[in-house]
Amino acid sequence: MANNFIFGTGPFAAETAEILEKFHIPIDGFLKISNDNKRLPQNIYRDIPTIGVDEYFNIDKDSNIFITKKPMILGETITYLKQHEYLNVYVVSEEILFSNPNTIEDLYQHLEKIDFNIPFLNYLEMNIVDQCNLNCKGCAHFSNIYDNNYVDVNKFKEDLKKVSDKFFLYNFRILGGEPFLHPKISELVKIARNILKKSRIVIVTNGLLIDRLDNETLQTISDNNIMISISLYKPTYEKIQSIEETLKKYNIKYLINDDYFKEPEVIKQFQTRLSLEKKSENNFASEICYGRFCRFLRDGKISKCYYPLLIDILNKKYGTNFEISDDDYVKINDITDGWEAIEKLNKPIPFCDYCREQEVSFDWEDNHKNDKNKFSYVLKK
Ligand code: SF4
Ligand code: SF4
Repeated sequence: MANNFIFGTGPFAAETAEILEKFHIPIDGFLKISNDNKRLPQNIYRDIPTIGVDEYFNIDKDSNIFITKKPMILGETITYLKQHEYLNVYVVSEEILFSNPNTIEDLYQHLEKIDFNIPFLNYLEMNIVDQCNLNCKGCAHFSNIYDNNYVDVNKFKEDLKKVSDKFFLYNFRILGGEPFLHPKISELVKIARNILKKSRIVIVTNGLLIDRLDNETLQTISDNNIMISISLYKPTYEKIQSIEETLKKYNIKYLINDDYFKEPEVIKQFQTRLSLEKKSENNFASEICYGRFCRFLRDGKISKCYYPLLIDILNKKYGTNFEISDDDYVKINDITDGWEAIEKLNKPIPFCDYCREQEVSFDWEDNHKNDKNKFSYVLKK
């Protein structure tokens, strides 16, 4: 009988072990990508051993490996397991934590077996609206500069179709600006589900409009199994009760601040690495920044992160001179090998030169609509 391992060592891994054991799938070990003793697991589940990367040679290639990581950060693990020719790799959906499966069919609803013949794109986000009903200082999507700009329904459909022709997309995030400002949000949700039948689809929102949405929109979100991720800013916190009541009424799954395990806290600070000038820091920022996971779709292109495909608004509005090159993104039409495209996007891009090694933190503030000071967006030091 094949052995079973869980990739991951945190609370998600421990809970998954418990669920799998309920179905008589005994766990032989927790895998971690590092051997660094300083990063030992916080959560060792009972007496199951934790295995560092140097000991993986003990693991048969046909073992079952269950990955318990956030969709955004799965990519590097999958590339690693593909390169080392593991055969039976499953991604565990965080939704397993909400649903506590009772039957083996329920369990498999939350396990995505990776078919390495089809390029597996773990994460992709897309703005459907560029502007926002908040105007946060330093918004990474520059939503506080945009005026009205809504994605066209046909363009949305066309871009998603192109993506699904080239990849299996695991996790699609509908973003903005504020996505609930889009007048055709229900239609977009139905299109996304129709094209991405097996993907996790998440709407990321500041939540302020949720308790004002009409019945049809809320029901469509629920019927199409779309998850909501609420960013808890101060104005959101002030009405969170009403937001949660609305979502519960329609049986819509949601996370606050995208974290299942942490008590939600009001977001008090933002960080940025973007600088007005190119830095000579050997692309170190691109190895540690959170943005390196944020594959971004716009106008038939996928970039490593949101900056290259959104920075144009800053150049236009403030005369900044951020340069974009063809190597900052891939054109979906030009992709002949999806795995190669994924690998390209995993590497640093020329735009990364604009990012600092040391991030700059600043207090969250609203009311920065069309701030005349371009440094509010790049926070020059
Ligand atoms: S809520 Fe703030 S950070 Fe989020 S998109 Fe709107 S302006 Fe940007
Ligand atoms: S441009 Fe590169 S370094 Fe900057 S946020 Fe994006 S991925 Fe990170």
